[in-house]
Amino acid sequence: ESLSDYRGRFAPSPSGPLHAGSLVAALGSYLDARAHAGTWLVRIEDIDPPREVAGAADTILRQLENHGLHWDGQVTWQHQHGARYQAVLEQLTQHEFVYRCHCTRAEIKARAPHYDGFCRTRQSSVLTSSRRFALRLHNTQPVTSFQDRFHGEVICETALAHEDFVLRRRDGLWAYQLAVVADDRAEGITHLVRGEDLLHASAWQLTLWRQLNALGASTVPLPHLAHLPLVYGPDGRKLSKQNHAPALDETKPLENLYYAVQALRLVPEPLHAYSDIDELLTHAQALWSQTKTTENKTQQG
Ligand code: GLU
Repeated sequence: ESLSDYRGRFAPSPSGPLHAGSLVAALGSYLDARAHAGTWLVRIEDIDPPREVAGAADTILRQLENHGLHWDGQVTWQHQHGARYQAVLEQLTQHEFVYRCHCTRAEIKARAPHYDGFCRTRQSSVLTSSRRFALRLHNTQPVTSFQDRFHGEVICETALAHEDFVLRRRDGLWAYQLAVVADDRAEGITHLVRGEDLLHASAWQLTLWRQLNALGASTVPLPHLAHLPLVYGPDGRKLSKQNHAPALDETKPLENLYYAVQALRLVPEPLHAYSDIDELLTHAQALWSQTKTTENKTQQG
């Protein structure tokens, strides 16, 4: 049982094993939960079969354990949450916050840099079309700025903040935004600690969160946000599975963690000062508690 109401999570997509960048996201969310005496959950975000790599989910869980990042409770799997996502979609649909969009990516791009709400007012004329459609949110709660513990006030690009983003894709799969908000609300997540690559996704998720709260059925307090620095490869690009970042060398968990601790802008002792991963994790948690747990608008995370 955790000592506080803090509930955080790490939510990897099983599109490949953990690499140096995703270990930083895992470690940052872990340290923050532990520093708050909170609960740290792991959720496998496996709702995109085309991008899933066989065996990756098991590899990720093994990698977390190898690096001493032990989670609380059971691992949850998004592929088992279809009914939950459907219920959220139906709630929004009943309040007329959902509409069909038949536009292809090329059509959208030809009109404007962001989706312009084209199908919101064209329902009847396209209903007969046999083209596949996505479901979009009629965005009535645009989030144009939010507070981030490490960044202070984050200002979002206006057009993007107002975009009617996708809830269910044209290929019939659930969109990440809907699934993640449905799960974070259902699991009582209070703190989102994640990579900076998700800054604008966070704004959209706050939008959806607010819009669901506005329906009145269940008001869930908005999550606290903290975005972690990204890790860049020698080519200057963000480490990611798409850029073929190498998997972690599982024979070197102490070195991997040490590198991740530094990437979080913590300043550990020299590597040889730590005899094992638990010693490093304990020290990292103390460093995190000293420097990262309070609102700080001048010092970058
Ligand atoms: N599953 C996504 C990822 O791996 C999102 C994680 C999150 O929502 O924090 O990037």
